[in-house]
Amino acid sequence: MAQATLSDVRPMDSSTRARALPTLEALAQAPLPTRFGRFQVRVYRWDDEAAHPALSKEHCALVMGDLHGRRNVPVRVHSECLTSEVFGSLKCDCREQLECAQAAIAERGYGAVLYLRQEGRGIGLANKVRAYALQALGADTIEANERLHLPVDARTYDVAAAMLRELGVESIELMTNNPDKVAGLSNLGIKIERRVPVHVPPNPHSASYLEVKRSKMRHDLLKPTFQLHDSDVPPESSDDERAPDSTRRQIAI
Ligand SMILES: [Zn+2]
Repeated sequence: MAQATLSDVRPMDSSTRARALPTLEALAQAPLPTRFGRFQVRVYRWDDEAAHPALSKEHCALVMGDLHGRRNVPVRVHSECLTSEVFGSLKCDCREQLECAQAAIAERGYGAVLYLRQEGRGIGLANKVRAYALQALGADTIEANERLHLPVDARTYDVAAAMLRELGVESIELMTNNPDKVAGLSNLGIKIERRVPVHVPPNPHSASYLEVKRSKMRHDLLKPTFQLHDSDVPPESSDDERAPDSTRRQIAI
């Protein structure tokens, strides 16, 4: 399959790691019917030596419609979160954001989810779960990473920029609450026509995490509109921890 090179894309700010960029290699493509509609799934290889060694080098784009030469393409640049997307963890809003994006793209009839294998904001699954263990003892998501001497956010967006060039996208409407993602992609030469917020209602397990994202990581999130009570949050060690009915309703898309 065709290969896209990135000779014209170079990091432009100091927060982006300076390194020789890999070549994006398109490996496979097939139709993928989903409960949101029919996508094409394209799998790429991006051999980034600077990435954490636990992370997969295979990334994918979930594409609907022909995006070549198109402007204002709805795009979600989404980083892998196994715990929420596979196991239904309520600690974060990743799965709901992914599903909102797929639904929005299906409604428009075209667009792409760029699914990056940057588990745990780029530190890998084991480190993310180590951080969860500290969070169960009271640390917030930033404090936990810092206690483990890990970066708070090690994600990069080079591969997403490379995918958008490979797909021939002219400009995007980026579905995100994260201003750093907007800046990161802009600095890589991606034209962002507008940012579209993806607001997911908090549940008792995700509320404090979302509040840290809002207050410490500058994500554009709504301020909490309810007060948590201890009785709302079952103990982390509970063996039979079922989501309350209200939470199950909130996460239904
Ligand atoms: Zn998550």
